[in-house]
Amino acid sequence: MKVTFPHMGSMYVPVKVLLDTIDIDYVMPPLGAKENLEVGVLHSPEFACLPFKTILGDFIYGIENGATFILFGGGCGQCRLGYYGDLQAEILKSLEYKTEFVCLDLSNMTVKELLSKFRPLTDGKSISNIIKGIIFATRAVFMIDRLNDLARYTRCREINKGQTDKIITKFHNKVQKTYGYKSIKKLILSSRKALNEIALDKAYKPLKVSIVGEMYVAAHPQINLDLERKLGNLGVEVHNNLSVSHWIADHFLKKMLPVKLKNKPHEAGKEFIKTDDIGGHGIHTIGCSILSAKNNFDGVIHLYPFTCMPEIIAQCTFSEIQNKYNIPIMTLIIDEMTGEAGYMTRIEAFIDMLARRRELGKADIQFS
Ligand code: SF4
Repeated sequence: MKVTFPHMGSMYVPVKVLLDTIDIDYVMPPLGAKENLEVGVLHSPEFACLPFKTILGDFIYGIENGATFILFGGGCGQCRLGYYGDLQAEILKSLEYKTEFVCLDLSNMTVKELLSKFRPLTDGKSISNIIKGIIFATRAVFMIDRLNDLARYTRCREINKGQTDKIITKFHNKVQKTYGYKSIKKLILSSRKALNEIALDKAYKPLKVSIVGEMYVAAHPQINLDLERKLGNLGVEVHNNLSVSHWIADHFLKKMLPVKLKNKPHEAGKEFIKTDDIGGHGIHTIGCSILSAKNNFDGVIHLYPFTCMPEIIAQCTFSEIQNKYNIPIMTLIIDEMTGEAGYMTRIEAFIDMLARRRELGKADIQFS
């Protein structure tokens, strides 16, 4: 039985570690393939959000290339993600694909329930490899996020422009052909070493921009038109609040602790939204924007896919947040029609404004 899975940023690396370790056969869709997005758009409802379309495109690629089992991490709550799995399964059925579709409600599942959903894939596999697979994959999530954090630090400070991009591109090209945790770990460590050896302008004080918004778009460079790389190459230090390691820590690791830890962005976000959930990362977006102002970031970039309900609600609070906390926030809405030139112009104009504002000592700005 071959399994397939959709891409979301660097998430494919830990998924690959998990499947390699348990010895499960899989089809990995190519990273950022435009054809997959086109196929997904073709078979999706017009107003479905972009993640729905790209994920469906990746599934179809996997099935066309021999996968018979789909694992999908859905969820419930207030937004459309709750019925994505069922709708995608129906679409695949109507296209006459014969696949087993397992949707994992990751927001509410215990580790035990998660393992039972994996059973068709893990039956007959070694228990010790399954446990090792989970441990190695979790480690890989944190290692990859640390590698990306280091790249964000070096990219904006490097003296010879383009060195960070070269190392990261080489890493992604190689890791797709690398098998097993040991070799992947070695590759991550050697890439980290290469990043640490880049000559940096230590005196440079970059503008600091925080990325908030919908997780899929914020974490997936092929969907957000490589926003982090663009900002880094403009000399901006980026902090992305939507990393997979944060998500795993919030949804699984913290839940296992005997004491309940506070979710800081969530607590902060409730200043403007008097409810516990508006779906997706809506409250997290509001909270992270406030915390970014309190932590002296120069600006916030808010990313979300066209028609994403939770982020539309979050956006409604921004004029108040900008005025109260004196931080500029720019929203970028992305869909399959987003053009690179207009996108880049807006980013450059925003960064110019932040630089000017810093020169003037973060002058108060009244946002209407
Ligand atoms: S959070 Fe937004 S983009 Fe993500 S599934 Fe929900 S509505 Fe769609």
